[in-house]
Amino acid sequence: MRLAWLLTIKQERKEPDLMYRLTAIADVEQPCPQEHELSNAVWYGIADQRDGIHVKNFAICQRDLKYVEALFPTIRGYFTRLPSHNAYGQRQSHRCSLRTSSIKRFQKYLDLLADLDEVAQRTSRAPDISRFISLAREHAFKDECLRDEHIPRRAWHFIPSLPEFTVCSECYDELIYPAASKRHAVAKLFNPSTKLVIGESSEGTACCLWSPRMRRVWERVLADSDFAYLKRKAMERKRAEVRLGLEKRELATWLQNMSNARSGSYRGEDFERLRRRLREVEEEWKGWE
Ligand SMILES: [Zn+2]
Ligand SMILES: [Zn+2]
Repeated sequence: MRLAWLLTIKQERKEPDLMYRLTAIADVEQPCPQEHELSNAVWYGIADQRDGIHVKNFAICQRDLKYVEALFPTIRGYFTRLPSHNAYGQRQSHRCSLRTSSIKRFQKYLDLLADLDEVAQRTSRAPDISRFISLAREHAFKDECLRDEHIPRRAWHFIPSLPEFTVCSECYDELIYPAASKRHAVAKLFNPSTKLVIGESSEGTACCLWSPRMRRVWERVLADSDFAYLKRKAMERKRAEVRLGLEKRELATWLQNMSNARSGSYRGEDFERLRRRLREVEEEWKGWE
């Protein structure tokens, strides 16, 4: 059972059977597809109460629907099944909006649902679901920070003379835009609209400002207006990213080849050694991310 779900129970929920109910759901329902976009699953959305139209780009899987309804009983019935086909007869695929990798949004959705449910129970009124609809709408067309995931040919915010420090829209809106609008010298150097990075590697580019470490670097850049410091830190990180990324891909290829090889003799010691090295590389990257 996912820890995050357990955390939601911290609110004064005294029903002792709640945990059992969640476990019972987990026993019968397929797990959340997380990152995977599926078309052959059952999805639920939230419809605008006025026109009945589902909010775009918001979908939850069957298991998460059951969890939500078990945790927050007054919310029952508001999430309704999304049509499996669009108006052109094509199958619709979705990605779960309550996937745990989307940690910030997941937390916001759950906090709001907990709040709505609490108020509804206390006042014996229907939950103010329009607040949830606004939150889902707010997220619908905003790209989310994908942290360490490399994406080819995506547009980023960056300083033209420092394309090694790419920032996604979400992190830009959160940490750079507010400083740029106050005319902060370094923040103002970023292109205000996203652009493609010229000459990026075939793996693509990832956000450089999602990690707590780089956010601390950025805080210092803001405090000291120190572009040279940002440049040094960004370049160090990029060098580590390239070096470790390359080794990681090579190790992964070797391990894959070994797993595919039919003869068992290829495995054994070498396999273990490479696997250990892969873990080391991943650990080392954690110090840089
Ligand atoms: Zn899900
Ligand atoms: Zn980001």
